Amino acid sequence: MRILLVEDEMDMAAALTAALSRHDIVVDHARTLEIAEEACRSGVHDAVLLDRKLPDGDGLSLIPLLRREQAGLPIIVLSALGSPDQRVAGLDHGADDYLAKPFSTDELLARLRAVMRRPAQLGESSVSVGKLRFNLTERLAEVDGAPLDLTRRELLALEILVRRSGRTVARSALEEAVYGYDDEIASNTLDAHISRLRRKLGDAGVEIHGIRGLGYLLKATS
Ligand code: CA
Repeated sequence: MRILLVEDEMDMAAALTAALSRHDIVVDHARTLEIAEEACRSGVHDAVLLDRKLPDGDGLSLIPLLRREQAGLPIIVLSALGSPDQRVAGLDHGADDYLAKPFSTDELLARLRAVMRRPAQLGESSVSVGKLRFNLTERLAEVDGAPLDLTRRELLALEILVRRSGRTVARSALEEAVYGYDDEIASNTLDAHISRLRRKLGDAGVEIHGIRGLGYLLKATS
């Protein structure tokens, strides 16, 4: 599972990231609404944990954008603003759950499991382009029913390209999806991953076009 954590308190973010990582959850951390907006466009997250009091505004203002990008994306608000009125405001803004700080990691994990179980999240479980079929739930790519042997980073790159097939995916969005925000990467590393991905896709009936200065686009071979 890969989640986007929107939280400006670095201690809190570090503690949560460490706790969730122990449960094999990959955490991408965004400190501000602006960074979170960019991050959510990558479309790679399975859930969002959203603080409210952020340097550039109320976290609730991000929910409409999150919903536009990925309608069924589970959103849990984590906030010190924990009065009944404030919780109601959060749920009315479209959050799936609202957890008042302080909370225990166990409770957060249980709430995450609960929102992930809801039927809305089961909607689009796989995407097909050409002969390629990408199972979004299991993160598995197949061509004609045969699984492709891809590395984790190749899978992450392919997932975002497939989710947004026919549209150009910005280089920065791809790099964030593949490496997370904190990794330092060499400028040509992404291109090397894409080259390997193209080779492994072979005759899957899809092409990955590089668009100079912008990013990459995946589409079915015509
Ligand atoms: Ca805060």
